[in-house]
Amino acid sequence: MALSVVDLYRDILPKTNCRDCGFSTCLAFASMVVSEQHPIKNCPHLTPEVVAACEKELAVQYAAGKWLKRDMKTDALKWAKEKSASMKIQDLPDRIGGTLIEKDGEPALELPYFNDHIIITRDGITRKDGAEMTRYEQVFIYNLMFWDAEATDGFGAETKLSFDDTITQHLDIESIMFLSERLREILCEFSG
Ligand code: SF4
Repeated sequence: MALSVVDLYRDILPKTNCRDCGFSTCLAFASMVVSEQHPIKNCPHLTPEVVAACEKELAVQYAAGKWLKRDMKTDALKWAKEKSASMKIQDLPDRIGGTLIEKDGEPALELPYFNDHIIITRDGITRKDGAEMTRYEQVFIYNLMFWDAEATDGFGAETKLSFDDTITQHLDIESIMFLSERLREILCEFSG
């Protein structure tokens, strides 16, 4: 039987709020165990038998994703990948620029990206040297690919923000993207 936060708190934990686990209450600890896979053995006031029994129950519900805190970045990337599955790589240069190339015998798009280049293929998006991009970055690129100029009264995604090429020495890519998004908001507020 699955262990909810209430089950764990009500039926298993000592409810003394002693803080020995590092949390201020047993309820907070229960919540972390159920939703974020915090180890239940970190409560030192449970017998090894109780810990083992709970770990068995918890392993099943973790595997099923039951009550686990959702990872928004992973969800967004999954959604973006599914949505992009019907797109043709060959159509992308007209939509977002870049150059069509071939990678492993398949069409791919090489696109300038900050001080670097990225490669978009059917399988995903990587840096030109093959290094992985963060999930935020990939969702950002997928959103560029989805931009529908017709649905936005003919406005293509044409705004370009230019930064000094030393910016990546001072800010990580995610910070640059958040900065760009805020600049876009300010420009829209100003023009609107
Ligand atoms: S160590 Fe156990 S009893 Fe103490 S607060 Fe944490 S969960 Fe509750």
